[in-house]
Amino acid sequence: MKVAVSTLLFVLALSMPAAAQRTSIFPKGEIATVDNHTGTVWLKELSEPDSVFNYSIATATFAPGAKLDWHIHPAGQILLITEGIGYYQERGKPRQTVQQGQVIKCQPGVEHWHGAAPKSSFAYLATTPTQKGKTIWLKRVTDAEYRSSK
Ligand code: MN
Repeated sequence: MKVAVSTLLFVLALSMPAAAQRTSIFPKGEIATVDNHTGTVWLKELSEPDSVFNYSIATATFAPGAKLDWHIHPAGQILLITEGIGYYQERGKPRQTVQQGQVIKCQPGVEHWHGAAPKSSFAYLATTPTQKGKTIWLKRVTDAEYRSSK
């Protein structure tokens, strides 16, 4: 019986997608409860700003289809994508598909959004300078905006 159970677990492990078996280096954090996104987003602050380092570093993980609302970082933001496939769009520009290993520079004051593609989880490390104030949250990304690559 013991053998049968371990064989079953082995077969189950083999049938899981590779991404599901991978363990993130950093903790995934807690499900975000702030009203600035749709879908499930996990957030974990990894390095808080202090008197020496005036930026925060956090990891964000998105369930497939989850996305942030349109927003602005007064001093910009750099995203290091650590997992999956997602979308990034600046106001007035086409939506870009982005993936693990890419680095995105969100320029200061530029309205944009980012989130997971419909069928992929998505995660990044975000470095956000804090000296010019907090992120400004704007409108929800509409379904039409999310679907359109224009
Ligand atoms: Mn951003």
